[in-house]
Amino acid sequence: MRLIELIEWEISRQDWAAMRCGCGDSAEHLAPDLLRLADDRAVGEEANGAGFEEHVWSPVLLWEPAPAVTTVALAALADPIPPEVRHRFLDLLQHMVAGEGTDAASARRGLDLPERCRALARQGLWLLYEEVASGRSVSAAGTAFEILSVVEPDRERLRGVREAAGELLPVCCRTGLCDDW
Ligand SMILES: [Zn+2]
Ligand SMILES: [Zn+2]
Repeated sequence: MRLIELIEWEISRQDWAAMRCGCGDSAEHLAPDLLRLADDRAVGEEANGAGFEEHVWSPVLLWEPAPAVTTVALAALADPIPPEVRHRFLDLLQHMVAGEGTDAASARRGLDLPERCRALARQGLWLLYEEVASGRSVSAAGTAFEILSVVEPDRERLRGVREAAGELLPVCCRTGLCDDW
């Protein structure tokens, strides 16, 4: 029997109310939003990391809750969640590590949110390698590998895993088409 769900535990320990969301409200609404994302019965926007666009991420910016959301996504990947839910959190995590800028209020406080999110994701390196090695889903392995290609400082290890993983990875990752390294 599992004693706790890591994702619920991690969501409950973040001080969402103290953070400013990209939508201009307090980030408090992100706690139930993340729980819905973890629910395999969710559909539509609720079931999609894109539902967090303009709240946590945009194509050019991350907002204050992004590091907390990054940690929650890693906790979710450590839980035994259904494949489609893993996919949602991998997508969300990819948005967090792909961020380029920091919202103005956070930047004034000296925060570099993309750097912070990448540092947090780096702590979950082995969760991402596990996804690649598991053979559960080629597409999820691809997302995990693309996250690794942003955060893994050991490029030799990354190249070695790419060779070893072979067809567990999608063509874009195998051939280096999606690389910018
Ligand atoms: Zn919001
Ligand atoms: Zn790829």
